[in-house]
Amino acid sequence: MASGGGNNRNGTHRNSLKGTTTTSTVSTDKPLSVNSNPSKPAFKNKSSPLTGASSGLRKSSPGSLGGGAAKDDAGVPGRVRVAVRLRPRNAEESVADADFADCVELQPELKRLKLRKNNWDTDTYEFDEVLTEFASQKRVYEVVAKPVVEGVLDGYNGTIMAYGQTGTGKTYTLGRLGEEDTANRGIMVRAMEDILAEVSPEIDSVLVSYLQLYMESLQDLLDPTNDNISIVEEPKSGDVSLPGATLVEIRDQQSFLELLRLGEAHRHAANTKLNTESSRSHALLMVHVKRTVKGREPAHSSDNGNSTSMARSLRPPLVRKGKLVVVDLAGSERIDKSGSDGHTREEAKSINLSLSALGKCINALAENSAHVPVRDSKLTRLLRDSFGGTARTSLVITVGPSPRHRGETASTIMFGQRAMKVENMLKLKEEFDYKSLARRLDIQLDKLIMEHERKQKAFEVEIERMTAEAQNRISEAERNYADAVEKERLKYQKDYMESIKKLEEKWMMNQQNQGNERKMVHIAEEVAEVKKLLSKETSLRKAAEEEVDNLKSQLAQLKMSEASANSEILKLRKMVEDEVCQKEKLEGEISMLQSQLLHLSFEADETRKRLDRGGPGKVPGRLDSPVSQVRSQLKDSGNGEKASVAKLFEQVGLQKILSLLEAEDADVRIHAVKVVANLAAEETNQQKIVEAGGLKSLLMLLGSSDDETIHRVAAGAIANLAMNEKNQELIMSQGGISLLSTTASHAKDPQTLRMVAGAIANLCGNDKLQTKLRGEGGIKALLEIVKCGHPDVLAQVARGIANFAKCESRASTQGSKTGRSLLIEDGALPWIVQNANSDASPIRRHNELALCHLAQHEVNAKDMISEGALWELVRISQDCPREDIRTLAHRTLASSPDFIAGLKRLRINY
Ligand code: ADP
Ligand code: MG
Repeated sequence: MASGGGNNRNGTHRNSLKGTTTTSTVSTDKPLSVNSNPSKPAFKNKSSPLTGASSGLRKSSPGSLGGGAAKDDAGVPGRVRVAVRLRPRNAEESVADADFADCVELQPELKRLKLRKNNWDTDTYEFDEVLTEFASQKRVYEVVAKPVVEGVLDGYNGTIMAYGQTGTGKTYTLGRLGEEDTANRGIMVRAMEDILAEVSPEIDSVLVSYLQLYMESLQDLLDPTNDNISIVEEPKSGDVSLPGATLVEIRDQQSFLELLRLGEAHRHAANTKLNTESSRSHALLMVHVKRTVKGREPAHSSDNGNSTSMARSLRPPLVRKGKLVVVDLAGSERIDKSGSDGHTREEAKSINLSLSALGKCINALAENSAHVPVRDSKLTRLLRDSFGGTARTSLVITVGPSPRHRGETASTIMFGQRAMKVENMLKLKEEFDYKSLARRLDIQLDKLIMEHERKQKAFEVEIERMTAEAQNRISEAERNYADAVEKERLKYQKDYMESIKKLEEKWMMNQQNQGNERKMVHIAEEVAEVKKLLSKETSLRKAAEEEVDNLKSQLAQLKMSEASANSEILKLRKMVEDEVCQKEKLEGEISMLQSQLLHLSFEADETRKRLDRGGPGKVPGRLDSPVSQVRSQLKDSGNGEKASVAKLFEQVGLQKILSLLEAEDADVRIHAVKVVANLAAEETNQQKIVEAGGLKSLLMLLGSSDDETIHRVAAGAIANLAMNEKNQELIMSQGGISLLSTTASHAKDPQTLRMVAGAIANLCGNDKLQTKLRGEGGIKALLEIVKCGHPDVLAQVARGIANFAKCESRASTQGSKTGRSLLIEDGALPWIVQNANSDASPIRRHNELALCHLAQHEVNAKDMISEGALWELVRISQDCPREDIRTLAHRTLASSPDFIAGLKRLRINY
């Protein structure tokens, strides 16, 4: 149900700087072929009157009355379709009503229902489909539910709802499991059968939650301890989510049936505990179907033609997310308000609050009324998309035949008639799946790293082997050489000794034969022979010397081959070094890929924001900090998205992101400061950012950058960090006040001023920093900022002043502060008085509080009287909607002699 705009909540307390959300995905809208999708063979295209094109007969103005998503984006008109189903007489009716005709008569071929007024007169009503008491469950599914289920599979939201008096067959129509006879299977079971038949388990997912709404409390039927689930609305798209509800992934029909049985058992137990019946509560089954579009470009490209080729190759898959809501409403009969059934009157009112709120909303939508009271009940908040929203909605109203219940039957029929006038604008829920892209890149990275490590290892082993082999060869050659030289040496030594010995023998013989002349000639001959022998020896020796030379040259050759082995080793070393270089380059590429991925997700973010802002004729959005946008984005997109972005940061590393704050490229700096701001918005990250020097870098950026976007985002991040007391002292000690004041004095965008004022306002709430903050011009800076006049900015200033006044008042009471208030000293009082009755309630409330704090201390009284604060205090003591402030003002006035005298002088009777 679409609601009136009105989502602006001005920040009045710490969380105020964390505002609205955008999703990280790019949503694209495409017109829906109005009947069943003809391209799908699994569903025989049986055109159904219940979901056919908007009939020319009943024209209501398109869609949602209070704005919301359907207004911004072109959708396809799709009127709420209504079928009526008549229950056969039951045993009791067959006896009790035996003599009476049924109170209704059906003409299914004319799609008409006649309601008997009396014996002579009937009223006739037309419906989209009229289902007699003989209609089979299969036929009911096909005309009421099947087209809605097909829409969900195509990426549209869908709602199937049953309305009617208790006992007329709502649960029979929707919730029958058909265990005893499969022909009796109800809509829930048949819808899941069709969904499971269509999805591919590897790339698609089906998640289910099952809930009960009773007395405005939302209970989880899959986890009964979870009995107060809160509803979260995404203000821009109007999407509703239940982050606290259990989500179960369904892979087969059997597990779905078990889940329904479990839910039913819990419902029974819960109702026994609460002493009620299931007919008093609403049951809601939600089926989230996410399907990957195979080989398809998105309906609208997000890159505006300027993306890099890298980005194109990293294009994420396109997914469609349809949500099917099946609602088994509480019985529509009026409940006994006397309290006789064990409930008090108050409880009785609360029990049917949601149902009557639903009736009112449908009336308002049917009559095109300017206000649709969506926020009056949880049921209407949950169904905001189903009536006047973007979903395809099919309603089955159930009636019984008994004339005794004619009144209830008539009112059920009127409800159905009004619902038929409600027009929805069907919208395709299509977006990019960045999560799976990130997963794919992760896998690629891991593969590359593994491959690289494996190659390097093999290389090292090969080098080791070759070195060992060369070493072996060298030592073997050396050993052979030494052996050969030794052998030669021994041989020549031996020969030489033998020759000497022979010569000595011969010389002895010569000595003996000296006198013998005859023998002289012989001796001469012998000498000649010895000479011959000697020359032979000499030539032998020469040959030996040649042999030695030869061996030497062999040795030299061996040495040369050793040198070449050494140079081989050197070459191998060089190759190892090259390989290391290569590895470094690869690592560089990996980190480049990571930062490109970071860049890409920002680009997607920016595009998303641009798309969200860009509708023609759309009023510009309110002042949202980008910090809070991303923060909520992390929060809203569920655990999956959040984990993906968080994982990305983990991979890139905080230190690296912080270093990008000083990057040369201005775009990179802006992205980086946004990322740091995102992180700073998460309380868990704040400590890490400050420890890694992030606070210092952010403050430095305020001083060094001329870019207002950087100023705004950095100031937002500082404001978030300034929520923590320890960080407040750090900000002050690093000259934060003067940096923030200078930033404010250059700012043109009220957003920037709001961030700066928010940061100073947080610092104002620190008891220990009061004097220093004022000494460095913090209060003066706030009073400069108010010149901008934007209410969001003024609210932050007022919050700062109220924080300051409160701390100061505390210090005065404890005696650690004397003299007039520093706020009065710095001239803030006229502004406080002037804005104490501002139309904007946050500004007013903070200023009222500030006045009350100031008035606590007699030293301030004279200034307050002369500046006209007395009138305001009197007004606060009478008109302020908050009782504690009213009482405080009253008590202060009554106890201060100066104020009493002032009142008398002004003739105010008090
Ligand atoms: P509700 O949920 O509206 O209170 P139920 O679905 O519990 O009503 O139906 C009340 C009784 O009527 C049940 O016993 C159910 O089996 C029976 N009943 C309802 N509709 C039909 C039908 N179309 N055919 C046969 N029995 C029906
Ligand atoms: Mg029921």
